[in-house]
Amino acid sequence: MAVQEAAYLNIKAELVHAHVELIAVSKTKPNEDIAALYQLGQRAFGENYVQELVDKQAALAKDIHWHFIGHLQSNKVKYIAPFVHLIHGVDSLKLLTEINKQAQKVGRVISCLLQMHIATEETKFGMDAKELEEALAASIHLPFVSIKGLMGMASFSDNQEQVRTEFKVLHQHFINMQTKAGAPFEILSMGMSGDYKMAIEEGSTMVRIGSLLFGARNYNTN
Ligand SMILES: *Cc1c(COP(=O)(O)O)cnc(C)c1O
Repeated sequence: MAVQEAAYLNIKAELVHAHVELIAVSKTKPNEDIAALYQLGQRAFGENYVQELVDKQAALAKDIHWHFIGHLQSNKVKYIAPFVHLIHGVDSLKLLTEINKQAQKVGRVISCLLQMHIATEETKFGMDAKELEEALAASIHLPFVSIKGLMGMASFSDNQEQVRTEFKVLHQHFINMQTKAGAPFEILSMGMSGDYKMAIEEGSTMVRIGSLLFGARNYNTN
């Protein structure tokens, strides 16, 4: 399936108007598809798999901002530390500590979002409110990471009110933590192809959209 250029331009215009940043989620999609959106002006792309991200970063334009949006294992941080723009799914203090260590090695400060568990599914990753507070407090001693905000994934559900409630919970934690954060804490990454409009209504500042831009993914590893 080809890149949905008209859909991209429409969504981009809608998001510019709403002051929301668009991350084009290109996981499983070939480099040509990423280059096609790049030609239209898109610079922020999101990937879930470390090896795939490393390969794409090496092959594509160097001014692309690569967002890691998947579940990151501590032993793989070193592969993306030299170039990653923002790590969305930081779901433990252990992982944050490893990112700090690898960032120091390459002489960078890496921007991160803490992932909160808001969905009903146990399989989804993320921290609860107490763990979020602990990670934020501990980050004072981690000078090579900068926590910019929160990320979350709503339940995979047709129940719109359920999804809206989860977004509201995440937004409320975001507002509460903003007052406690030392550094600017201004990114709320929530919303995907199926729920991004509702996420924006509930205060999202960054949406992660894949299938609406690149077409459906025909694979079953995710
Ligand atoms: C795949 C993925 C997306 C994009 O999903 P679409 O439904 O294709 O828009 C967003 N966020 C995360 C964390 C993902 O893994």
